[in-house]
Amino acid sequence: MNLFTETNLSPDILKAIGELGYESPTEIQKQTIPFILSDIRDLIALAQTGTGKTAAFSLPILDMIDDTSRKIQFLVLCPTRELCLQITKDIKNYSKYMKDIKTTAVYGGSSIMEQIRSLKDKPQIIVGTPGRVIDLINRKALDFSAIHWLVLDEADEMLSMGFKDELETILSETPETKQTFLFSATMSKEVERISKNYLTKPHRISVGSINEVKKNIKHEYYVAGYRQKKEALKRLIDSNPNQYSIIFCRTRMETQEVADFLMQNGYAADALHGDLSQAQRDTVMKKFRLKNIDILVATDVAARGLDVNSLTHVIHYSLPDDPEVFVHRSGRTGRAGKDGVSITLIKPEESRKLKQIKSVTKIEIAEAKIPTGEEVIKAQVGGVFESLFEVHEDFFEFDDALIPDLSAFTKEELVHKLLQFQLKDLALYYKDRHDLVEQKLNSRDDDRGSRRDRDRDRGRDRDRGERGERSDRSRDRGERGGKPRRKDENMVRFFFNLGKKDQLKKLDVLDIINKATSNGKSKKRAEIGDIEILEKFSFFEVEKSFKGDLLSNISSMKFRGKDMRAEEAN
Ligand code: AMP
Repeated sequence: MNLFTETNLSPDILKAIGELGYESPTEIQKQTIPFILSDIRDLIALAQTGTGKTAAFSLPILDMIDDTSRKIQFLVLCPTRELCLQITKDIKNYSKYMKDIKTTAVYGGSSIMEQIRSLKDKPQIIVGTPGRVIDLINRKALDFSAIHWLVLDEADEMLSMGFKDELETILSETPETKQTFLFSATMSKEVERISKNYLTKPHRISVGSINEVKKNIKHEYYVAGYRQKKEALKRLIDSNPNQYSIIFCRTRMETQEVADFLMQNGYAADALHGDLSQAQRDTVMKKFRLKNIDILVATDVAARGLDVNSLTHVIHYSLPDDPEVFVHRSGRTGRAGKDGVSITLIKPEESRKLKQIKSVTKIEIAEAKIPTGEEVIKAQVGGVFESLFEVHEDFFEFDDALIPDLSAFTKEELVHKLLQFQLKDLALYYKDRHDLVEQKLNSRDDDRGSRRDRDRDRGRDRDRGERGERSDRSRDRGERGGKPRRKDENMVRFFFNLGKKDQLKKLDVLDIINKATSNGKSKKRAEIGDIEILEKFSFFEVEKSFKGDLLSNISSMKFRGKDMRAEEAN
């Protein structure tokens, strides 16, 4: 089956996908479409986003759905609102010429009453997130008694986001006779357990998983110590001009910090992570899709719902723990037949982690050197010419009379002048700047190194999905704030005007203190003692010698738009 026209799909579907430009089925579609059309067994498909899995399950089901019935026959469950909207859009596109087929999306963070109203249209297809689906079942707005097909999409992600109970409740609401398809990027123990309990002798398909890493992605890694990382990142961005990229970080805090650093340095960048409200996340994703920003700094979870095909680079600012996540991240570039580059920043003490990723994924990751200022400028000149000769329309009528007499200059002199003009800011930045001291991977990589780093990362909590759960253990393991309560003569106790009602967390206080005390002349970092967050206000302890810095800086800072005030507590 090399062309869609060789499948048995109906002319209405073929016409719709033809208009979308789909000619040949992707690997997962080649395996899944004939199976679903002809087999009644359940299915487990190991496939990642970007493999064409939405069409893989929805095209054959659309082919078989009964458009004379107005009962729900097909249910797709997925982890996030973004993915829910994306799948709904895809299914609506595929069923464009099936006029009696209706698809409704139901997801949290949006009016339930409006969704109940749209269910009155009697759709045959529901795409939903587990929490909202349960709400609607409880309100008797959804009747799953006639379901034929159930898809669990990104099952691993739904489980890691804590939707296990919801999934089990929903599964128990659907008829035993249905056919279930479980799609997952990874086969975790939890996924294995759910499939054992709820799928019957499933057929297994594996596509684009860890063993089928894309060949059109160039992988390179750069060694940079903790203190060099941001400067190294800047150089890597500057030496890859005209990029459209996602930078992956491990925690929400790191994500925000890296995005802030880039924005402060004039890049069109923004952050995407679970601490943002749904509306803020929507805005950031829209800006990125429209290319109003060209660098998105994101956590793995937050970036899941984002479907863009034209990324030139993926940058791993921090390594993930799971090698499969590395493959998944990298696979976001090099799509739609284009080449991609995956750049990894590695700290000297992370050699073991790198080795593990290389050996599990079988990806060749070549070491490269962080560019010198001169190399950055060279790359930028190349970038100017690349975008200059890109095919583009004439944007405006240009009157030659507007050009002054340039006969005194040679062609080369003019080009030189234009380049100087175009790259002035960058050239000034790199002019007298020392290149980064070369770092080597530490062959005696040990756990102490990574532990030290983790501590230095101020106990940044691992991103735990969109729901904002945090590990108390990691939250309390602070760089300087996680120390046990101590009464120390060197410490001053401060009253702080914000508290739980302002959504202030311990990590926020650490961050605020670090910012307020790092402006002083002293390079030394302030000791932080006990932090106590109460309903309306808080207390914290900071090393005495930083008292002046803290009091003067904090009053000009804001937290979630609110003014901050600190004073010495009695
Ligand atoms: P998915 O894995 O479902 O998120 O799909 C990834 C992207 O590939 C989406 O933008 C789809 O529209 C696109 N796509 C899916 N199947 C095909 C196909 N056979 N040919 C071309 N593009 C496709």
